Amino acid sequence: TESCLSAIEGAGALNAFVHNTPDLAREQAKAADTRIKAGDAPDMCGIPLGIKDLFCTKGVPSQAASNILKGFKPEYESKITSQLFDAGSVMLGKLNMDEFAMGSSNETSAYGNAVNPWRRGNDETALTPGGSSGGSASAVAADLCLAATGTDTGGSIRQPAAFTGITGIKPTYGRCSRWGVVAFASSLDQAGPMTKDVRDAAIMLEAMCGHDPMDSTSADLAVPNFEAMLTGDIKGKTIGIPREYHMDGIPEEIESLWAEGRKMLQDAGAKIVDISLPHTKYALPAYYVIAPAEASSNLARYDGVRYGHRATLDAGDGITEMYEKTRAEGFGHEVQRRVMIGTYVLSAGFYDAYYNRARKVRTLIKKDFEDVFAQGVDAILTPATPTSAFGLGEMKDADPVQMYLNDVFTVTVNLAGLPGIAIPAGLDKKGLPLGLQLIGRPWEEGDLLNTAYALE
Ligand code: GLN
Repeated sequence: TESCLSAIEGAGALNAFVHNTPDLAREQAKAADTRIKAGDAPDMCGIPLGIKDLFCTKGVPSQAASNILKGFKPEYESKITSQLFDAGSVMLGKLNMDEFAMGSSNETSAYGNAVNPWRRGNDETALTPGGSSGGSASAVAADLCLAATGTDTGGSIRQPAAFTGITGIKPTYGRCSRWGVVAFASSLDQAGPMTKDVRDAAIMLEAMCGHDPMDSTSADLAVPNFEAMLTGDIKGKTIGIPREYHMDGIPEEIESLWAEGRKMLQDAGAKIVDISLPHTKYALPAYYVIAPAEASSNLARYDGVRYGHRATLDAGDGITEMYEKTRAEGFGHEVQRRVMIGTYVLSAGFYDAYYNRARKVRTLIKKDFEDVFAQGVDAILTPATPTSAFGLGEMKDADPVQMYLNDVFTVTVNLAGLPGIAIPAGLDKKGLPLGLQLIGRPWEEGDLLNTAYALE
């Protein structure tokens, strides 16, 4: 804990931590020492963690990287952080992210972006750590903490993990409680661990999972000992390679790392099969209707009354002006764009044409996966991202759709509610990390982690 706290102090330029909690960390570390000495220590005991700012942490600023939540200190602890603390873990502070988890580069954060510790060879251009869990990825990659929590609505654990050379798993929808995690798109949001390797991910995921009566979508299923399932034995497993993921414009080096991954799994005794997920091309458009629709509804609660920021009003302003001014000042541009898209696609005149259509597409995407799993496929191997980390500011003037394309390999997994893991696969010509993604059957995170372990 002490070495992490001093590393954080020396790494201000990364802007990964946005609120430090050294007093709490030292207190928790002391308590962990006592437990370890008493021989009553779970694996997560004493492990110093960074917590994404999307998690409500009692008495500690929890702003979802938004100005609208400025000064908000929750009265309660999220289920996941309370489980981690019960296991003896230490919180070093809160981590930067895109505002309300909307973004792929951490540039929508009200705190300013986090920075990727990696560089393109000798080129000093600062790169994005990805998003939305960019602070988590940067902090783990730069050794500011041993592991971090992330959340993933369309790729926000897996894309930043790939951009920074770390491991990140989004579990099956319902595996981890969403209680106390600020909602973005409730039918897609899942939290998960971001760690240095697969073993750490297995250990931390076990501590994060479990049924919670406070989240009606959390599954009442036993949580396996994921670490015990890491045998590296994948003989006889069938790994599907979806042909639709060979997309135009994907750099040659990503294709070749993907081929290397296939070969490694085959050498480890798995059978590699060509599969088809025919509705893949509709995933991004469906996601960028469904996620904003849910976001516009979830974000309606920020009204200047219940939480955080309220605009200064002029004489004669009524409640409508208070809402309008507060929301105009408090939300950044990307969040405002999503709220507008969301209210539009949910409006009476367009509901059937957009929102309902997107929901039907979502069902077809889910069915694509169900069909290949029914044919005996155990896991699916794909690239994690279509590029390596790009320069901060590089996408500033681009069409927002360019940024959305980052999620092309990851959103299908959220739409289908499946578990997906990104693991480091190697470096590109510029010397930057690239990741591979494995997608598993629902509730079979243990198998998925084991396949990732064989590939690590
Ligand atoms: N980049 C995607 C978006 O902006 C995904 C974000 C996420 O997973 N939270 O919506």
